Amino acid sequence: MNGAPFSFGGEEDLEPSFDAETEQEFRGTLLRDQRNSTLICAASAIAIWSCFAVFDIVRVLGLPPGDWRLEVAMLFISRAIVLGGLVAVAIEVRRGFVRYDRLVVVIYLLLGLAVSLTANMAKTMGTFAVDSAQVAVVMAAFLPIGLRFRQALFLAVAVAVMSIVTTILVLSPALLHESLQLFLTILVALPLAAMGGYLRERSERKQFLLRKLLATQASIDPLTGLPNRRAFRWRVESGLRHCAREQRPAILAVVDVDHFKLFNDHYGHAGGDVALQKVADVIRHSARRPLDITARVGGEEFCIFLFDVDVTRAKVPLEGILNGVRELALTHDTAPRGIMTVSMGAAVFDGTESLDTLYRRADDALYHSKTTGRDSLYFAEQ
Ligand code: GH3
Ligand code: MG
Ligand code: MG
Repeated sequence: MNGAPFSFGGEEDLEPSFDAETEQEFRGTLLRDQRNSTLICAASAIAIWSCFAVFDIVRVLGLPPGDWRLEVAMLFISRAIVLGGLVAVAIEVRRGFVRYDRLVVVIYLLLGLAVSLTANMAKTMGTFAVDSAQVAVVMAAFLPIGLRFRQALFLAVAVAVMSIVTTILVLSPALLHESLQLFLTILVALPLAAMGGYLRERSERKQFLLRKLLATQASIDPLTGLPNRRAFRWRVESGLRHCAREQRPAILAVVDVDHFKLFNDHYGHAGGDVALQKVADVIRHSARRPLDITARVGGEEFCIFLFDVDVTRAKVPLEGILNGVRELALTHDTAPRGIMTVSMGAAVFDGTESLDTLYRRADDALYHSKTTGRDSLYFAEQ
């Protein structure tokens, strides 16, 4: 697989694909996006299949009783199996079964086999047979039913081969001659439908990448690469709901660079940007447990949400940020300490409050830190 997550495989690939992780995400999105269309296709297939079953009953009732042979029994058994399978697909897709594509593949193969068997058995029984149904099943594999192009192509080829083999096995040479037209139609229809399926998958993949890019741009701060205020709010609100439900502790901290306006005035805006990137790196590395959330929430202001920690344990990463910024030793000639420092305020989640209230308390603590000499961490009263 090629290295870049946002690129297609080589043009010569049968199926454009992403790197393994993005590919998994794409498959999940495809299955979710096509749930409704799969349901519609399954419902239509159930309706058409039921019509054929009613048609069979009428057809069989018209036969002389002596002609009620094994074929008739097989006809009804195959109708019942496929109908059951289609209903199972509809139920599972509605229920939200995640990998419903596997079920679709199995039932589709059964459907393909049943269609060619019933069409050819009808011919041997001398009754009306719908050959075009076999072509329709080959082409319908490329409908939006949760399958990737490769899966759809496999199904279409498998059903085409089954149709041709079943016809050759079931029909007598005289009847077989008439099926030549069916074979040719399948041979023309399959590549045409496949081309449509391939082009649809390409555009689905492009759309997927664009949506992903848009989501990234909407949630990441371009200067530091940290999540922005919007993404932070969204994640922390969900984190707080989790903490409230599970009665777990959490801490929100606000970090503000000291005398940053003076730094900008002295070293220029570009110099300020570089300094912000370095501070962001310190924050990123200090709070790196899987559930820790960091963000740049304003100009020179950052936030850290620590999940499942008390004050004593939270002090390790938070004081790590204070020390980390000091250790950067970024010269700040116009600040009292001569180097860049940050001030921090933190508040312990009380188990019920909103993010806004928690943030306000952390911000008040930050204000305390700013007014008592800066370069320090202060916890809000509980
Ligand atoms: P205090 O110690 O009280 O926090 O003082 P301060 O100067 O850091 O605070 P103030 O809010 O007065 O100034 C913040 C400055 O941050 C002002 C603004 O020019 C600068 N700033 C905001 N966003 C950016 C940015 O993206 N890049 C740069 N280089 N500077 C920024
Ligand atoms: Mg500020
Ligand atoms: Mg500041």
